[in-house]
Amino acid sequence: MKSILVTGGAGFIGSHLCKRLVKEGNRVICLDNYFTGSELFVHDLLKYPGFQLVEHDVTIPYKTTSMIDEIYNLACPASPIHYQYDPIKTIKTSILGAINMLDLAQEHDARILQASTSEVYGDPFVHPQPESYWGNVNTIGLRSCYDEGKRASETLFMDYYRQNKLKVKIIRIFNTYGPYMTVNDGRVVSNFIIQALNNESITVYGSGHQTRSFQYVDDLVEGMVRMMSTEDSFTGPVNLGNPDEFTMLELAEHIIRLTGSRSEIVFRPLPSDDPKQRKPDITLARKMLHGWTPSISLDEGLRKTISYFQGL
Ligand code: NAD
Ligand code: UDP
Repeated sequence: MKSILVTGGAGFIGSHLCKRLVKEGNRVICLDNYFTGSELFVHDLLKYPGFQLVEHDVTIPYKTTSMIDEIYNLACPASPIHYQYDPIKTIKTSILGAINMLDLAQEHDARILQASTSEVYGDPFVHPQPESYWGNVNTIGLRSCYDEGKRASETLFMDYYRQNKLKVKIIRIFNTYGPYMTVNDGRVVSNFIIQALNNESITVYGSGHQTRSFQYVDDLVEGMVRMMSTEDSFTGPVNLGNPDEFTMLELAEHIIRLTGSRSEIVFRPLPSDDPKQRKPDITLARKMLHGWTPSISLDEGLRKTISYFQGL
């Protein structure tokens, strides 16, 4: 049994991770400021004596006398509409949050994993994206508060590793979806599902020919847990994503078919700096994470997600 701190643990991915860690018998402290997360997402865990929910903002240092073996640093809004709502707060969350959690890891001699993102590749010129690609990111655009915050966090993690010998892990998460995304999340999978279930127009931004590679949340959580248990010399970054690539029009068609919806597709303006293509090269993850590979197809994952939204 380990003592594990999860920041952003009441969010979409964090709540799945907390459930997995608690059910494996670990003590889990979930830190969240509830900006996009909710107590409701982890409510079922409150009956476990080893689970502790703490309202805390990671831009402020966190102190505890409890033992901590591992930290998963997930706190940060991930949907463009949420991270652009207060961009200054977003970049503070990434950078101050990383510093505060790295310092905490150091005090406790804990391993620490950073939830970085495929956004560090920006609008990529290399396709698919291997970890060795440095990316093509606009420093001054609307997405920069998120992209550059995450890039700076990676820098901080590697500097704490080299300078202070901290045990760090960096994962670059590609678009992930599943139950417990919020109805107002604004990301494409939840938007299209909700629109399809309500027989409302499906809003495709731009031409719909831009691509993304969608990973079901359980596959990601499996990769995160495996990454945390790799040997100390392996810091990453490592891509965690599903390499099956779809255009947004294809995604809309899948969702219309699976929901049996009467929705029609409508086109809306493409947001600025919207990446044209995204597909992870997961060679490194397969090699270092004992053959990890996504096992849930888009249709299977969408079915599970659709039935979650139907049950709300
Ligand atoms: P989410 O918005 O559902 O979860 C983020 C959580 O962090 C929420 O519970 C929120 O309340 C909390 N939070 C935000 N700011 C905070 C702060 N200052 N202090 C404490 N808590 C704070 O998003 P998610 O999809 O679950 O993403 C989780 C992590 O994974 C994020 O770091 C995100 O950047 C990363 N990520 C997600 C995806 C994806 O496709 N879902 C892709 C790449 C990276
Ligand atoms: N998108 C869309 N309709 C929506 C929401 C998003 O067509 O209702 C597009 C968006 O422009 C982007 C893709 O879907 O090209 C993925 O968007 P999301 O916000 O889910 O993730 P990200 O852009 O951060 O990869």
